[in-house]
Amino acid sequence: MSNEIKNFFYPKSICVVGASTKEKSIGYELLKTISTFGYQGMILPVNPKAESVLGYKCYKTIDEINDQIDLAIIVVPKQFVEDSIDTLLTKGVKSILLITAGFKEIGKAGEEVENRIVQKIKDAGARMVGPNCMGVINTIEDIKLNATFVAEKPEFGNTGFFSQSGALGAAVLNSLRETHIKFAHFISAGNKADINENDLLKYWQTDDNIKTLTYYLESFVNGEEFIIPFITNEVEKPVLVLKAGKTAGGMKAASSHTGALSSKDKVVDALLNQFGIIRVNDLNEMFNTAKGFENFKSPKGNRIAVITNAGGPAILAVDSLEKENLELAEFTEETKNKLREVVHPEGSVNNPVDLLPGGNAETYKRVNEIVSEDENVDAIISIFVEPVMVQPFDVVEGIYDVKTDKPIIQVDMPLPEFWDTYKRDSKKQMPVFRNPEDPAEVISNMLFYNKSKKKLIEYKDQYESMLKCKVCKKYEFEKGFLTQEQVNEIADDYGIPVIKNKLVKPEALKSLNGEFYPLVIKGISKDVVHKSELNAVKLDIRNKEELLASAEEIEENFTKYDFKVDEFLIQPFIKTKHEILIGGFRDPSFGPIIMFGTGGKYVEVVCDTTIRSAYLCGADIDEMIDTTVIGKILKGVRGEKPIDMDYLKKIILASALMLIENKNISEFDLNPLIVAQDDSIHAVDIRIKWE
Ligand code: ADP
Ligand code: MG
Repeated sequence: MSNEIKNFFYPKSICVVGASTKEKSIGYELLKTISTFGYQGMILPVNPKAESVLGYKCYKTIDEINDQIDLAIIVVPKQFVEDSIDTLLTKGVKSILLITAGFKEIGKAGEEVENRIVQKIKDAGARMVGPNCMGVINTIEDIKLNATFVAEKPEFGNTGFFSQSGALGAAVLNSLRETHIKFAHFISAGNKADINENDLLKYWQTDDNIKTLTYYLESFVNGEEFIIPFITNEVEKPVLVLKAGKTAGGMKAASSHTGALSSKDKVVDALLNQFGIIRVNDLNEMFNTAKGFENFKSPKGNRIAVITNAGGPAILAVDSLEKENLELAEFTEETKNKLREVVHPEGSVNNPVDLLPGGNAETYKRVNEIVSEDENVDAIISIFVEPVMVQPFDVVEGIYDVKTDKPIIQVDMPLPEFWDTYKRDSKKQMPVFRNPEDPAEVISNMLFYNKSKKKLIEYKDQYESMLKCKVCKKYEFEKGFLTQEQVNEIADDYGIPVIKNKLVKPEALKSLNGEFYPLVIKGISKDVVHKSELNAVKLDIRNKEELLASAEEIEENFTKYDFKVDEFLIQPFIKTKHEILIGGFRDPSFGPIIMFGTGGKYVEVVCDTTIRSAYLCGADIDEMIDTTVIGKILKGVRGEKPIDMDYLKKIILASALMLIENKNISEFDLNPLIVAQDDSIHAVDIRIKWE
């Protein structure tokens, strides 16, 4: 990994262009934060009017500086930004943090300047964070860089925190004393004109100080670039994403906010899930989970024990288990017997274990020990609500002394003074959560990550084989919906089972011979997308007479709406058991997306579909089948024989390949793919849009 990105976090020298002697100005506050946090490198302020700022010798111009500049931080007003960048680049500076705002986010004029700057940065082989951002932090002892204007003193932890929003980043920094969030690196990326989430995803893999990656994102610069490192197994650390813009309203706000276009949220949701990226719902869940990864061993399973001294919070904890797909563990008799010796007779030795308000540090520790030894328990949630007579500190500290490989996650609901005491006096400094629902989220995210990690191993080979083209044919089709012949050709090449088709001109219908009855006749016009809406699909035709009558009827229907039948499509009539939909489209950010679900005329009403990135592994296809109603039905319910599932999976994969290999396909659908009474499978209606 090149040093340009590393230098944002580990510079030996920083130059602050626009350092100021005026209190409350950004140029002053920034330098003050850098200085008070205890930056270990050389500080080189630039200000044409000052001799010194905050005791540091000031340079009149950038050119006056003879020392090597590892990182240049720009806070000058926007009209001076471009000149400063020119000078820095000429000097050979490779890492530039542009805090100043007033670029793409203000409209066209700002965007032009921003684009010009980015081009210059690229040409010089330099990298830039920002503009319109809040800075970077590295809490590592021998660096100690807080290059933001938030004068907090964040503590070291093994998390990297990337925030697209400066304000949100600042809010998190301002909350640190209360939330006890710790991190190694913080980066506010602003407009993401150059450095973005994808760069940090790669960089943080190489940095041993980072074990967990957290992102607050309003948009993905290039979703496909973000997911590919997961597919190719280049991401070895948990990645948590808080993606704003979940609701339609939220999406509008997000796109005007940093001038970025958001991906459709369903796609984001499906793909993050597919590639083991943990999507969290709020900041709380994000940092709690990061604390989880940092401080606890991963649970082996989802059987949870709850220990408490009060009813209400335990009930909330148990409710949250269900929401997160966790189970309340069933204790062994041995555990219950051991618990009886410690737990108050009026308490409970079942799960949740209730120690009643009298439960003290000793009981809590012993009970946690006993429960952690139970083979039916994978993780413990230990809740303490402060009663009058028991002090929380010893309880909390004591529980974290229990020797076990299983995570014990604590919730404390103490008097307000506790938190300062705990922070000051705790030897272990383990996280203590505030809400009874928090631990379930953390455990469930950790389990999701572990499960996905196993699945991700499958991708690499699959992906490489997917990139080697299977069909490798250059189709020379015109833009628009492909004709029936073209559809037949391409679908056939990929092994999609296209039903036998025959195209007949209206005038040739009468002289038609040797037909296979029963058959289906469909009226085709380049202007008609949904044939059955015009009553242009006639099923189960038994003889020539019926055929001609149906054709006539279709022509009449078309005429009513001023359409003309270009051709009739004749197919064998399939005695149908099930109708399936396989479709796909190219998402502007995340690339090829594949859809599977219930097919037929009523797809929009039935709404039984699921989507994935077309870079599918076997487990994804299984999951698509398992999460849809039609999938479950096809696998056989109520003693029914399953259909040929392997063949179905092959067709899904073939469709995905067709989409991946043919960049011109913007969308397609096989609707329906019919499963016949004899279990044979036929695509009777395929639509492909070529761009
Ligand atoms: P469109 O989607 O343009 O309305 P389709 O070709 O999908 O037209 O036909 C509509 C419906 O007719 C299908 O959902 C299916 O139920 C039925 N159908 C179409 N072709 C056949 C066929 N060859 N055998 C049996 N049923 C068919
Ligand atoms: Mg159809």
